[in-house]
Amino acid sequence: MKSIPVKKLLTTKPQGQEVVVNGWVKTFRSNRFIALNDGSTISNIQCVIDFETINESLLKKINTGAALKVTGNLVESAGSGQHVEIQATDIFVHGEADAETYPIQPKKHSMEFLREQAHLRVRTNTFSAVMRVRSALSFAIHDYFRENGFYYFHAPIITGSDAEGAGEMFRVTTLDAKNPPLHDEGTVNYKEDFFGKETNLTVSGQLEAEAYAMGLGKVYTFGPTFRAENSNTSRHLAEFWMIEPEVAFYDLVDNMDLAEDFMQSVIKYILEHCAEDLAFLEKRLLDEEKQKPQVERSEMALIEKLKFVSENTFKRVSYTEAIEILRNSKPNKKKKFQYLINEWGADLQSEHERYLVEKHFKCPVILFDYPATIKAFYMRLNEDGKTVRAMDILFPGIGEIVGGSQREERLDVLKEKMKALDIPEEELWWYLDLRKFGTAEHSGFGLGFERLVLFATGMGNIRDVIPFPRTPQNASF
Ligand code: ATP
Ligand code: MN
Repeated sequence: MKSIPVKKLLTTKPQGQEVVVNGWVKTFRSNRFIALNDGSTISNIQCVIDFETINESLLKKINTGAALKVTGNLVESAGSGQHVEIQATDIFVHGEADAETYPIQPKKHSMEFLREQAHLRVRTNTFSAVMRVRSALSFAIHDYFRENGFYYFHAPIITGSDAEGAGEMFRVTTLDAKNPPLHDEGTVNYKEDFFGKETNLTVSGQLEAEAYAMGLGKVYTFGPTFRAENSNTSRHLAEFWMIEPEVAFYDLVDNMDLAEDFMQSVIKYILEHCAEDLAFLEKRLLDEEKQKPQVERSEMALIEKLKFVSENTFKRVSYTEAIEILRNSKPNKKKKFQYLINEWGADLQSEHERYLVEKHFKCPVILFDYPATIKAFYMRLNEDGKTVRAMDILFPGIGEIVGGSQREERLDVLKEKMKALDIPEEELWWYLDLRKFGTAEHSGFGLGFERLVLFATGMGNIRDVIPFPRTPQNASF
């Protein structure tokens, strides 16, 4: 007989019919009641042991974490808390879990402890909920772009250009680290490396996506991205997934419209399709909030916050206006910011982004027209000669979640900019070609997928929204 997922059983009409279910034991109460979960839903199915057919010798094998196949009759539940339950007539133990040594016992574990058990943590309610939401979000993202005429574009993961300027890179090499081939002057001779040159893991697929947008029109990437940045924050990973749409004939306003509609649409999707998991995550957060002093509690519960963001337009503010707001803000005047804002041109830190979103505007904010000096070389220069058509989207609790821009499509301006920044033209000859042959205005942005999952689940640390996080000094599993 075929087994039925718990999710399906819980909505099946109980008529005493025989069913089979596979899953892991969450709890085993009074030597009689098994709460079984198979990952299909946050809820468990209760299996009640029928001692007429099940041998008591089996009981000691039914510990938390054990994998079981339960056969029995689906009936209306007598107990409170569930509509249906299985009167179990046969139990097959796929695999036991020793109660003394199984790490995931039915009690509250710290996130730090669970990170050390990353191979087992998905068996907790919190992580299974987060990972289901993560999966739903990635589906929603592909769905949004397909519905809107975008092509899924696969950017290379090994890149030969080191001019992307988005951060430190991880080198890809087959050279012998202890004994590399050297030039006469003693430097490493990468001509003898696998690709005949220095290569790295990609920090962004944008430049390549631009090439494809200038032919396919609308493309997006959704793939792994690597940054060897030694920033041990709750928002940075060394390996993360990035979504990068790139659109021909879009200017910065089109780009902002796309980003806003896209973000709202994927959040609406999970509100609709992940209601149970979100309700669980919301309750988890509320319990956590109760431990905090009143002033530190957040004003909105998770689902309310997701609705708020998906239904209200994002506030669009220029960098220059934002600097004025920050300069005159209380934490700046009282020297509460770690980095004080004194003048136009300052790079915004996370504390400033969060002040704007959480304290000043109290809604998602799109900042645009940043100083050219603090943004990448490929962003389009404005008429004023000092700002570029950049935009960052800032979210409550996260800070920067999206970074994008209108790209510089004018060959002469781009060349000048690269010269000023010492980026050799030979490195990016193909990128310059895009400006020589059929150039046109175009725009795009990058969304860090894990930052979106952080926001959607209300989790506090980016290490807890990716299955096996890679961070400085940590690549276990
Ligand atoms: P930040 O200032 O937060 O480090 P960034 O300016 O380096 O971000 P971009 O280069 O614009 O970010 O990358 C686009 C998006 O990728 C960011 O808006 C963010 O959502 C995400 N992102 C960037 N770096 C990381 C990282 N190390 N881990 C996870 N997500 C990241
Ligand atoms: Mn960064």
